[in-house]
Amino acid sequence: MQTTEKTMIHNFNAGPSVLPKEVIIEAADAVINFNNNGISILEIGHRTPQFTAIMEEACSLVKELMALDEDHEVLFLHGGASTQFMQVPMNLLNPKDTAAYADTGVWSSKAIKEAKLFGKVDVVCSSKEKKYSYIPTDFAVPNDANYFHITTNNTIFGTQWQTIPQTSNVMVADMSSDIFSRQLNFNSFGLIYAGAQKNLGPAGVTLVVVNKHILGKIKNPLPTMMDYRNHIAEGSMLNTPPVFAVYVCLLTLRWLKSVGGIAAMEKLNEEKAALLYHEIDQNDLFETTVVKSARSRMNVCFNMKDSNLEKPFLDFAKENRIIGIKGHRLSGGFRASLYNALPLSSVKILVEMMQDFSKRNS
Ligand code: PMP
Repeated sequence: MQTTEKTMIHNFNAGPSVLPKEVIIEAADAVINFNNNGISILEIGHRTPQFTAIMEEACSLVKELMALDEDHEVLFLHGGASTQFMQVPMNLLNPKDTAAYADTGVWSSKAIKEAKLFGKVDVVCSSKEKKYSYIPTDFAVPNDANYFHITTNNTIFGTQWQTIPQTSNVMVADMSSDIFSRQLNFNSFGLIYAGAQKNLGPAGVTLVVVNKHILGKIKNPLPTMMDYRNHIAEGSMLNTPPVFAVYVCLLTLRWLKSVGGIAAMEKLNEEKAALLYHEIDQNDLFETTVVKSARSRMNVCFNMKDSNLEKPFLDFAKENRIIGIKGHRLSGGFRASLYNALPLSSVKILVEMMQDFSKRNS
């Protein structure tokens, strides 16, 4: 079926979420007949030249788009970002050593819980007491902490580190919900991980970027699949990789490069977020839930001042083919996720719908 302006769905889901239309079309073609080989991408072996070319191009595009240096390795792994919550401390923390963590949301707190299984954890700051509505600024990280872990974007409550804290420690970042959305000095991180299902591709694969020099300093033996060095040595093919998910990531990375890379994305994402926050600020029916200085450009969270209007608002959104704006069960209210592939036109439609709803209800 062809999608027109009138039938287009505006997908604000938090993840898995919107992907570029051209990526979906090419992926669908490859499911039927990959590269005119007469077989589906779902049927090719991971050791075939076709797939090794996919993996190599995907890794090299990540390196190019993030401008990574020779020290940083790119891995596509299984197990979601949640597996990284344990794999990071397993590789970087001895039982008697300390790791520093910032607690800025539900995902950070899950990472902290896992790290405690492997060593000492110093939670150097937390915004929990104010429902994760801000990013702490007043904290110190002990110099001897093996690493300092932050979650760059808080997917559930809608806050984002606007600048990355500068410390002498190895920086580790969960970038699951803002990877490739803004320019950062990615080489300044020891390790970055991100579940693919927001800005990179479908669920089922996790991107890890790791500085190889921080590895191999742990005394405890590591299970084979948990040791990043084994994945590096085998080019992310220690076991069968998620072939289709990696392929769709490659298509998304090609798309990202074709539209101008991370710099172009950052500009577009700023425009989309500014438009929506402006409407929330000036529309009497709505209010934001986080402090202005910490507003996420990826997950815009807001409430309705009169909770009786919540259901009618969601129904009206549905009539306008706007989906995925119901807030997370822990935060309530609304959340509009503005990931890379969400067009500006969808944000304009959401804003017009909010204005229209407000006229009908004031
Ligand atoms: N970290 C963040 C910031 C997330 O948003 C999510 C998922 N929404 C996760 C970790 C967990 O990812 P996964 O489901 O891939 O384990």
